[in-house]
Amino acid sequence: MDIEKDMEMLQKLQNIDYDMSELERSKDYLPEMINNLEKEIEGTRDALATSERELGEQTILHSNLELELDTLNQELTKFQKQMKEIKTNKEYDALTTEIANRKVKISANEEDILKTLTRIDELTEQIKQYRERLEEVEKNNNTQLVGLRQQLSSIQDKVKIKEGERKNVTVRIDKKLLATYERVRKGRGNTVMVAIRKRACGSCHKSVPPQIIQEIRKGDKVYTCDNCGRMLIWTEESG
Ligand SMILES: [Zn+2]
Repeated sequence: MDIEKDMEMLQKLQNIDYDMSELERSKDYLPEMINNLEKEIEGTRDALATSERELGEQTILHSNLELELDTLNQELTKFQKQMKEIKTNKEYDALTTEIANRKVKISANEEDILKTLTRIDELTEQIKQYRERLEEVEKNNNTQLVGLRQQLSSIQDKVKIKEGERKNVTVRIDKKLLATYERVRKGRGNTVMVAIRKRACGSCHKSVPPQIIQEIRKGDKVYTCDNCGRMLIWTEESG
């Protein structure tokens, strides 16, 4: 049993397993990122469409108010002309009422027209801003989406490649060591091989007796941490 070679292979295995878990993780977060970018485009489009719809409504309202105003002004002119030809007090009272009534309506109508024009101005400015924003969002997000969709569609291929690499590596590792590695990985996650730092386990910091450190350095035997069970290795940073 060549411990040095085994440990080297186990480190390779650890790297492969790390890559594989990253690929698994990206199966979750890539669709989420894609969805968020698509939603942002959609939301910006919706905001623009809502403002455009309201602008259409306000424009129709404005032309209707203008038509109404014309009619009211015509009626007012007509009543004012009739005023010059009245013969009785009754006629006078009736006309005065009509004229006053038209004047009130005209003033209300003019106020409404002003409000509509103000709103049309606001909406026009808003639409201009939304269009610019949409163009920007579409450009940014679509670029990102192309990359993310490519990444997502290539995950399965990448996983297969890693599975192949994993097989090649595992057949070259001592079965007992491999079993230890798999057991620790199951319980502790991706970091199975951990370097000794300051005479202690680099992960949980439990101190390692000098005698064992010596043996690990020599590469005679494989030791696991008393506390966390991870496989202890000696690297350049361990000294
Ligand atoms: Zn430990």
